[in-house]
Amino acid sequence: METRIVKVNRDNPEVELIKEGAELIKSGKLVAFPTETVYGLGANGLDEEAASKIFVAKGRPQDNPLILHVSSLEEVKQLVKSIPKQAEIIAEKFWPGPLTMIFERSSLIPDVITAGLDTVAIRMPDHKIALELIRASGVPIAAPSANTSGRPSPTIAQHVIEDLYGKIDMIIDGGATGVGLESTVLDLTGELPTILRPGGVTLEDLKPIIPDVTLDLSIVKDEDNIIPKSPGQKYRHYAPKAHMIVYCGQVDDIVEAIKNRAKELIEEGKTVGIMATDETKSSYQEGMVVSVGSRKDMGTIAHNLFNVLRNFDEKKVDIILSEGVEMEDLGTAIMNRMKKASGGNIIYV
Ligand code: AMP
Ligand code: MG
Repeated sequence: METRIVKVNRDNPEVELIKEGAELIKSGKLVAFPTETVYGLGANGLDEEAASKIFVAKGRPQDNPLILHVSSLEEVKQLVKSIPKQAEIIAEKFWPGPLTMIFERSSLIPDVITAGLDTVAIRMPDHKIALELIRASGVPIAAPSANTSGRPSPTIAQHVIEDLYGKIDMIIDGGATGVGLESTVLDLTGELPTILRPGGVTLEDLKPIIPDVTLDLSIVKDEDNIIPKSPGQKYRHYAPKAHMIVYCGQVDDIVEAIKNRAKELIEEGKTVGIMATDETKSSYQEGMVVSVGSRKDMGTIAHNLFNVLRNFDEKKVDIILSEGVEMEDLGTAIMNRMKKASGGNIIYV
């Protein structure tokens, strides 16, 4: 398949190019586009056949439901049984933005979207290109991250090209995404509002609006026997090709442990990538040292994380030794992605 790549201005999207993308969506084709979180792989969310193509292109397991993207709260009405008052309040505060809400689904939605669940995930992205594309398509756009399933999510168009070129119809290149991590998934259908996947909107952001909000146990605990409520969370995910180990604890202890392990591995002839931070990078004398961002600004780490993981792959490192961060604010989402990327390979020092 021929993949058309077009550059679109993120602040002032070219109407003709957006129209072209929208026509493809309407005719059941696949279009990758930027959002403020990561690049999404979009298809008409009301078209069973179109949405099925997403699973094929990504190699995504069928039991992992898709998020529908809308451009207004009004559009949610036809997709759900009802909009709870709480959801309206949350949407008022956080939409457009990196927050997905789970609702009871309506019968309009094809089963392939929800993976057969009674619920549906919906979000309004905070990105002009995404919003214009949804509006011009006139349908909700189903869009998971535009990567091959299991790989780090794409934060620039080049990542999408690497994974999906020749498998999809169009890639809209709107430059780098902002947050760099996927949206927070918030379930409002249970007894307590529960975060199923931590993301751009944090627990701390949500608490003042919904004080009883909690984190799903699978996010907090490391044990394997806790089955996440969000189907997608049970897979190894966001993973580089290299083996990865994440070190958690006091920063000084982390640095010491990584230095020691790097030394051993290098002596064994391995190529070692070290994912450091601005504050610690000068402490390492060996290995391929890359700072993922500043410990004083978790936003920089979230923004760079997937790109750094992909770059280590390009450099063909055998093993990535990564510093962990505190599980608070955006750190919760960062640690969740590091945990998945490493296949749960975490060492507490
Ligand atoms: P992705 O768009 O690939 O970043 O993944 C979407 C995430 O939302 C996955 O973790 C899904 O399991 C989750 N998700 C989508 N729909 C639902 C739903 N109805 N209930 C729970 N989680 C969902
Ligand atoms: Mg994904």
